[in-house]
Amino acid sequence: MKIAILSRNQNLYSTKRLVEAGRQRGHEVDVIDTLHCYMDITSSRPTVRFKGTELPTYDAVIPRIGASITFYGTAVVRQFEMMGSFSVNESVAISRSRDKLRSMQLLSRKGVGLPRTGFAHSPDNIKDLIKNVGGAPVVIKLLEGTQGIGVVLAETNKTAESIIEAFMGIHANILVQEFIKEAGGSDIRCFVIGGKVVAAMKRQGADGEFRSNLHRGGTATLTKISAAERAAASNAAKVMGLNVCGVDLLRSNHGPVVMEVNSSPGLEGIESSTHKDVAGMIIEFIEKNAKPFKTKTRGK
Ligand code: ADP
Ligand code: GLU
Repeated sequence: MKIAILSRNQNLYSTKRLVEAGRQRGHEVDVIDTLHCYMDITSSRPTVRFKGTELPTYDAVIPRIGASITFYGTAVVRQFEMMGSFSVNESVAISRSRDKLRSMQLLSRKGVGLPRTGFAHSPDNIKDLIKNVGGAPVVIKLLEGTQGIGVVLAETNKTAESIIEAFMGIHANILVQEFIKEAGGSDIRCFVIGGKVVAAMKRQGADGEFRSNLHRGGTATLTKISAAERAAASNAAKVMGLNVCGVDLLRSNHGPVVMEVNSSPGLEGIESSTHKDVAGMIIEFIEKNAKPFKTKTRGK
């Protein structure tokens, strides 16, 4: 098969592993810089051009779209879908997952366990917003934050009120969430392919840090997940319509709660902590599922 990896950087661990896994299994694999693709959208025959030439119709594309290029990246993926290529994750599902508010609304509608959460732009009653999620301690997050930046723990109602006021002052959209103290500064990353959890790791924040992001100095170790955790992760992936994703769970005293579903999950942490060939499993998924014009929405 002809496979394209849409990635800004061919030297990233995840990109390199996908190239290697694809070639090992006898496929032709190209890495294409997403931002350097341009599209012909005037003709009835959609095409993607790259460095002056028309790209072939790939059997499959693997989108590795960073959060900062969601808008352009999903347009490129959509164009490939309209050409009939099978995208590992559909453009619509990627856009959906990049909007935390929309994602949580969809997950909650389908009964996926979530931390008690409130969303607000300019609440007239901040005290009520805090009370509604159970009162302090609460976690306050910027809707647009990534890698743990803009995630604040407020230990008292007073602190929570002033932080919320501060965010309101800069017109930021925020999320107020019950603090899952019992998670002990750790979360569980479940790697889901085709609706199944194929690998899981526990990430633990650095000493005295409640955020477990690897970018914030957290460490990853192998973990065994429960049946409920497995079900929550695969359910969340299904609701989001993502074939390949990373589902982040917290172990709360009311069961597993989903914090986030990531549509371009990194491979380095999960492969090195579990010693599993996750890249190979993604290629295998493509082999079984890539048929022309198989994407559900075709970008609609
Ligand atoms: P980002 O998307 O920026 O990584 P997250 O919402 O995933 O932000 O939060 C970063 C980290 O903070 C999480 O990995 C988790 O360890 C911790 N965390 C976030 N929300 C909560 C919460 N409600 N209770 C306990 N810990 C939390
Ligand atoms: N056009 C999309 C669909 O009908 C919208 C998707 C969405 O609501 O996320 O699937």
